[in-house]
Order: sequence, then C-alpha cells, then structure tokens
Amino acid sequence: MHIGIVGGGQLARMMVLAGEPLGIDFIILDPAKDATAGQVTEQIIADYDDIDALTLLATKVDVITFDFENVPATALQHLESQCTVYPPVKALSISQDRLAEKTLFKQHGIETAPYAEINTLTDLHNALATLGTPCILKTRRFGYDGKGQFVIKDKSQADEAWQAINQQAAILEGFIDFDKEVSIITARSRSSDTPATSVYYPLSENQHQNGILHISRAPCDDEKLLEQAKDLLAPLIESLDYIGVLTVEFFVKGDQLIANEMAPRVHNSGHWTIEGAHCSQFENHVRAISNLPLGLATVSSPYSAMINFISQMPELKAICEIDSCHIHDYHKKPREGRKVGHATITADNKGLLEAQIKEILAIM
Ligand code: AMP
Repeated sequence: MHIGIVGGGQLARMMVLAGEPLGIDFIILDPAKDATAGQVTEQIIADYDDIDALTLLATKVDVITFDFENVPATALQHLESQCTVYPPVKALSISQDRLAEKTLFKQHGIETAPYAEINTLTDLHNALATLGTPCILKTRRFGYDGKGQFVIKDKSQADEAWQAINQQAAILEGFIDFDKEVSIITARSRSSDTPATSVYYPLSENQHQNGILHISRAPCDDEKLLEQAKDLLAPLIESLDYIGVLTVEFFVKGDQLIANEMAPRVHNSGHWTIEGAHCSQFENHVRAISNLPLGLATVSSPYSAMINFISQMPELKAICEIDSCHIHDYHKKPREGRKVGHATITADNKGLLEAQIKEILAIM
C-alpha cells in the first residue's frame, strides 16, 4: 500500500510515523525543501498546483490524502480523475469557505453563531446593525489559527476591520460568550465488502492563546455533550460519504453545542490520541483511507493533555524529567508563532495531570 500526501507539515509527518508500522509507504508533495514530513519519507518537491508533479504522485500511489485545508481544491479535483482521493474533495471545498461550512451545518440542524455574508463595506454596516457588537469579521477563505480575522468591539471600527482583512469576501459572526471550546474527531472507513463504519474519540477541551491552540485536555467529562456531538455528526459524515478523519470544533454554552468550524483531516486537538487512545487519530486516518478496519478510539489512559510548543522547543532535559511526558519535536526551524512541537501527558487523575501541565508551562 502506498499513500500520497499533499502537504508535508507535522500532520503528514505524524501520519507517516503512524502508518509505517502497518507496512504502508508514503510519498509527500510539498514545495518546501525542508518540509518536516520530508525528513521521514520520500518527497516530491513541487508546488501544490504543479499538474505534472501531481500526476507523478498519482502514478506512484494507491490513494492520496492531504494534511491541510488550503490545498487548492482544483489540484485535488485534477488528481481525482487519476487516483482515489480521501477525504472527499467536496468536504475539503466546503471547509475552505466559511460560508459553505456554515450552510452545511445549518442543513444538518447544527447550531452556529449568528452570521451574515459580507461582500462590501455596506454589507458590513448593515450586518453590524443586525448582529450588534462585539462580533468577528472573518475572511471566507484562507483563514487559520486566528488569521484573517478582526474582532469588532464598536460599530465605529467597521472601516478599520474591512481594511484589516483586505476587503475580501467575508462573514460577520456574532460573538459567542462560550463556557468552553471542544472538538470531536471521528474516523469513517469503508472496507471493500462491508458497509462504512465510524468511530468517535472522546471530546477534547481546547484552550487557545492568541488564536492558536495552546492546550487540549481529554476526555472532556461530559458524556451528554459527546452523545450530542455524535448525533450531530453521524448524518453529516453519511451525507458527504466521508472517508478518513474529520474534526469539528464547537463552542459550548450551557448544554448547547455551537459549531465553529470543521477540518477534513487529522487535527491538533487530537494529538493526545497518540499516547492517550488505543489507536491514534493518525493511524485511524491511515487505516480509513486504506479501506482497513478502524482501531479503537477509546482512551488508554484516564486523562491526557497536549501542550503545543510555539516558536521554539523547550529545553529537552528539563522536559524529560517530567513523569509520563512524551515529546514530539517536528524538527522545524524556530520561528515566531510557528508550531514546532508538542508534549503529551497522561495521568490517572486530574490533579496529577494539572500538576504536570504546570511543570511544563513553567519550563516553557
Ligand atoms: P477560528 O479561526 O474560527 O477557529 O477562531 C479562532 C478562535 O477565535 C476560536 O477558537 C475562538 O476562541 C475564537 N472565536 C472564533 N469565532 C468566535 C465567535 N463567533 N465567538 C467567540 N469566539 C470566537
């Protein structure tokens, strides 16, 4: 079995590391000569829209997947005519456009923040009159980790916000005064001779800093929320005939789940599953797109937490002294705001988990 991955970041790297023990070979396609996944497997160095390179990749592998949302959908549509592409390109296209994403959620009765489509400054003024402040202006496309967003605290900031996002097509979202943020990760597979099956990981509770994921804790203890999230997602993945891992991020307010966004891929909030679940999100993604039965998504440790290392790695020796701490260095050059690695902690009780999180934060 040979898998091609468009994109060679840390998500691709961890897919490769999870798939190798299954005897699966990988080739990644990434324009960066020092792509982190290219350090652990074969790489084609080319732009994502280089048709010749994409065609070469398609001839070398059995199935193609991707490790980030902003792969040009047209490139994958081209590949689809030559090779199986999972997850479905339709899911990728929807996730690239916040308006299409919100529309999909709405079609499936999934609650979202109130929103309005914005194409002009006049649209923005009109939407501000309806939605009020505070609210968030988000570009429809190419936003991630809080980029392409402007929090509007007062209507007088409309012009400033519109300039800040470079007058791009956008949505204006009402601000949700949430209690917490969670995400659910599901994997769906279809072996050639059986109906599709899916597994759901427990909810992760996610804490952000400057728009970037900082800490994920799992499992989020609320069983009712997990059941609610599964019930919301099941018809959605069916309708997309989804194969692979899908992540949906929610705001939680009281007992209500409000969808924020979806990622048709493995997700940062699921990194804890490498050490904290019986089968990691990475292995299950690889299994799903290889038409293999899925592994268990249940926890192997009562409590887990993942802490992102942003900009630079902490001192290795100090981190190694913390009990049950697993270190993942992506071998990326230090750069301000860049995800360069993460740590996972597993523990038998919450007290111990929190104590170890504190120790790591102190070292960072
Ligand atoms: P996003 O890029 O949409 O995932 O937004 C990044 C982060 O900004 C989220 O994880 C939230 O912490 C915050 N955020 C985004 N949209 C909203 C909203 N409508 N209300 C409150 N906070 C939000």
